[in-house]
Amino acid sequence: MSTAGKIKEEPTQEFQPVLCDMCLDAQVPAMKTCLKCEISMCAQHLQAHLTTPVLLQTHPLTKPTAPGGLSSGAVRCPEHGKLLEYYCLDDRTCVCVSCSIEDQHRLHNMKTLPSAHKVLVEKLREEMIELAEREKQGEALKSWETKQTNALEVSTEYLVKRVAALRDIALTKVQRSVTARLGAIQTARQNIEAALSEEDAHMFLQKFAGVHEAVEKARAVDFIHGLEEEAERTEVVPDLLKNGH
Ligand SMILES: [Zn+2]
Ligand SMILES: [Zn+2]
Ligand SMILES: [Zn+2]
Ligand SMILES: [Zn+2]
Repeated sequence: MSTAGKIKEEPTQEFQPVLCDMCLDAQVPAMKTCLKCEISMCAQHLQAHLTTPVLLQTHPLTKPTAPGGLSSGAVRCPEHGKLLEYYCLDDRTCVCVSCSIEDQHRLHNMKTLPSAHKVLVEKLREEMIELAEREKQGEALKSWETKQTNALEVSTEYLVKRVAALRDIALTKVQRSVTARLGAIQTARQNIEAALSEEDAHMFLQKFAGVHEAVEKARAVDFIHGLEEEAERTEVVPDLLKNGH
């Protein structure tokens, strides 16, 4: 059922060449059809349309079209039924002679189809030149992008280096601080030992003042808080801000 339907759906289109309307004795295939005269012409009969300036301007030629094809909306004004032989550049539309004198197009820039074709081709060529110019600007933009990418890579590298330096400074601070605190404890112990080894009361009491100070210092050692703030570390941050790009 469906197979039969499909076969019927496909129309067999026969190719029928459009013939010259002016060759009366023989069937000569047409080269062009004049939309205004509404006739199709062979190469020989086309000559007048191709060589007479006024015909060239006002008789638009098209590929050979059978008479039925000419009445299609593409070449006739739907409002006036006349040939669309002018082009309104302002409205970008084809109009017939009646349209062209109506108020709607009165002040508009109107051309015959061939000269509108010429003008618009010229316009498109200019457009192409402008696009080529833009493309060049695009290339400049691309190289700018590359430069910016490189600059960012350089500053990223710089930042990574400086952050590592900052970490090293902080680590050194911690190590120094720990060493200093352990040192205070050791000094206190050495002072105590030295004082204890003094048998002479006078000498012992003289040393005791120093021992007392060292012991106080060792007692004050706080292993968690109070890392000494020094200039080095605080210098890095403004430097980063200044040179970090
Ligand atoms: Zn002919
Ligand atoms: Zn004609
Ligand atoms: Zn019209
Ligand atoms: Zn117009």
